[in-house]
Formats: sequence, structure tokens, C-alpha cells
Amino acid sequence: MPDPRLYVEEDLAAGAHIALDEAQSRYLAQVLRLREGARVRVFNGRDGEWSAAIGEMGRRGAALNIVARTRPQSQTPDIALLFSPLKRQATDWLIEKATELGARTLQPVICKRTIAETVRGDRLASIAREAAEQTERLDVPDVRAALALGRSLDGWDEARPLIFADEAGDEQEKPWGGAKGRGEPLYQAAERLRGCKALALLIGPEGGFDPEERRMLRGLSFVTPVSLGPRILRAESAAVAALAVIQAAWGDWR
Ligand code: SAM
Repeated sequence: MPDPRLYVEEDLAAGAHIALDEAQSRYLAQVLRLREGARVRVFNGRDGEWSAAIGEMGRRGAALNIVARTRPQSQTPDIALLFSPLKRQATDWLIEKATELGARTLQPVICKRTIAETVRGDRLASIAREAAEQTERLDVPDVRAALALGRSLDGWDEARPLIFADEAGDEQEKPWGGAKGRGEPLYQAAERLRGCKALALLIGPEGGFDPEERRMLRGLSFVTPVSLGPRILRAESAAVAALAVIQAAWGDWR
């Protein structure tokens, strides 16, 4: 069983001494039942991963003595996931899976049909941090504050194509808009965008994008509408499936 991993904010260097917060101290002492001298691994998103030995474990929490670097720092591919907040459990699951799949930025966007009342940023950030610890990442995704869809597109960096998972076609009278006007297959689009250094993916709410949103998005030069196949996926399934295809065709699964 590999040594447990913890994300810390502090700089990491041989001989550094880090005081853990209460939650992390409790996790080591009570959940993992580790004692002084036990080994853990730490990372901070900047200095790579380091081995550390648990120092004193007092009432005020545990401390770590940083020993040696075990892995050099590396970045996940620069993928930003723009997603409509969903029901709480689905959003939690989406955050955890998007972290495992290597998304670097997680941007909640409020669409016309978004039903989630509030987005607890601190809660989502802690889910992302735990997933990053578990999945052996060397960084933690940047979980942003929720923005209205339109606002999230203001001043968009055109060097970052926005892949728009558009579940609908253009024939309003047909189920899911029929076949006309469907986005291109995602794998093909991601392969075509290999020359880009960063990508973004937009996934809509349970009720999908409304026609006005689709029209606005399809009118933007940096937007690439894509289809995720002939079946309608739940939003959280669509996010995970699309991130997997992007990593395979464009990202770090090649
Ligand atoms: N509009 C449908 C509805 O009313 O149930 C489906 C919305 S779907 C549950 C949520 C989001 O997942 C969509 O807005 C889209 O971003 C993505 N999605 C799901 N299936 C898709 C597909 N086959 N092609 C492209 N995007 C899809």
C-alpha cells in the first residue's frame, strides 16, 4: 500500500517543517491511525511530490518533516471544464471524476435551465483536493466561483477552443432536433485541435441548453459544437465521457 498523500499549501523542500491543519491531522491520526515517524507523501501543485515523516502529534495537530522529493512537478493538460451545476450528488460525483480525468479548471456556469440553487465552492474544492490526493495528481484543479454562461464567455481567450457538447440537432420538430446541424464527432474535433495548447469543454444542465443559448454558442468563432453520439447522456456522464475522449485524442492518454 503506497504511503498516503496529502495536499499542502506550503513550499516543499528538504528539511522543511509543516504544521497540518486539524482535518488533515485527524485524518492521519484517527482514520489512518498513523503514529510519529510514519511516512506520508505531500504535494502542493508547484514543487513536485515529497516524502515526509510525521513529527510530533499533539493536541494542536500533527506536523510533518519533509525528507526528499519523490516525483518532479508536472502539469495536467490544460483542459477547462465548464459545467452546469447539477443536483448535489451528481455535482459531487462530476467534480471527483473530472479531477481523476485531469481537468485543470472547473468552472460552474449557470445556464437558463440550471436547477441547482447554490454552488458551495469550498465544498467542491475539498472534493477536488481529496480526489487529487487519491488519483496521484501533482496539482489540484482550480474550482472557480459560478458564473452566468454569458459572463463565462466574456473576453474568452481565442487560443483556447471551446468544445460545446450540443445534444440537439436543428430540426425542432424532430426528437432531439433530428440529425441536421449536429456537432461533429468529439474524437474527430479533439484530434483536429491537437495543435492547440489548451481546450475547454462545455456541458449543459439536466434540461439541456435552450435554443437561444445554442444559437449564441454556435455563433461564436471559438466554439466547436460536438456530438457525444446517438444517445442522450446524463450531464455528469457526458462530462466524464467527453473528458475521457479528449484525453485520449488530445491530452495525456496518448
Ligand atoms: N436536452 C436533453 C434533456 O432535456 O434531457 C439532454 C440534456 S443532457 C441530460 C445534459 C448535457 O449533456 C447536454 O446539455 C449536453 O451538453 C450533454 N450531452 C448529453 N448527451 C449528449 C450527446 N449525445 N451529444 C452532445 N452532448 C450531449
